[in-house]
Amino acid sequence: MFEEIKVGDILQHLNRPKLDEYDTVIVAFSGGKDSTACFLHLLDLGVPKEKIELWHHSIDGEPGSKPFMDWPITESYCKSFADAFNVPIYFSWRHGGFKRELLKENQMVAPVSWENPDGSIGTAGGKRGKIATRRKFPQVSPDLRVRWCSSVLKIDVMSIAVNNQERFKGQKTLVVTGERAEESSSRAKYALFENHRCNTLSRTVHHWRPIHSWTHNEVWSIIKKHLVKPHPAYLLGWGRLSCMTCIFGNADQWKMAHGLVPEMVEEIMRLEEEFGTTIKRDISIRELMKKSKKRTPQVDLRGRSWDWDKNSPFYRSFFVFKWDADWYYESLFANNDNTGPS
Ligand code: SF4
Repeated sequence: MFEEIKVGDILQHLNRPKLDEYDTVIVAFSGGKDSTACFLHLLDLGVPKEKIELWHHSIDGEPGSKPFMDWPITESYCKSFADAFNVPIYFSWRHGGFKRELLKENQMVAPVSWENPDGSIGTAGGKRGKIATRRKFPQVSPDLRVRWCSSVLKIDVMSIAVNNQERFKGQKTLVVTGERAEESSSRAKYALFENHRCNTLSRTVHHWRPIHSWTHNEVWSIIKKHLVKPHPAYLLGWGRLSCMTCIFGNADQWKMAHGLVPEMVEEIMRLEEEFGTTIKRDISIRELMKKSKKRTPQVDLRGRSWDWDKNSPFYRSFFVFKWDADWYYESLFANNDNTGPS
């Protein structure tokens, strides 16, 4: 194990881009521990904050949309994170988000919008393409044609937002993402450093995965070092942050999600029944939840604010007190549940 980590670290070092050559460093920021670790690692490596932008792809469409799949607090958490570190955050989204694409019937894929640094909103796409029908949840698979949510709502959204912003032309841009080899065998095969799919003759865009060889403990260690309060999902027992009702979720997570926001899970279960195809193929979410022995969460969020503000049952201050750190992070280090996109 020790040797493997060593080899991974050496490869990581050899494949590290020359950071001072880039005009802009974009961190694909979900609000989860891995993208947080990427950002903190960039700070530790001395990348000036002025060059860093956080980009968050809103799964459920335009910021402020009613959550269908994602954690209702994620947008608010991401904004608070950017404010706490004084870096810009730009949201981007597929119009209508997950739900529109799921219910698509003889339609083209929807356009994409993104926030520009001057406060304006850019929009592109949705004018050409195949007329198609979905009416089926994405299926648990590493194949992105089957697990369409990752490509339609994240990967393609980022590409459209980069390709359609003039400011990246003639510039050198680094896109940083937080996939780790430990998460799955398919992620283990990802390149550490490569041309990004938006790289062209007129626009240099590279893709770097700086924590590809990192372990779960290394990720939490850098978060603890910077005393950052992580997304509340981790405090509620999730080991990874993805959509609250991620298609990869296990029985416990679905049951917990149902306890936290019952109306979201009820709608998904109703749609599974309407479509006649379940997310997990061999079992419905309604049946899967029955397998969980977990109690429903003790945090009763009904009628409470999901925003990171004074009405939230979560913490308002963004940083942990140094003297509280050992106690605060203990359970987070211990929870090595790896359920999530592979
Ligand atoms: S987190 Fe899960 S449900 Fe959400 S887009 Fe990714 S794979 Fe799909």
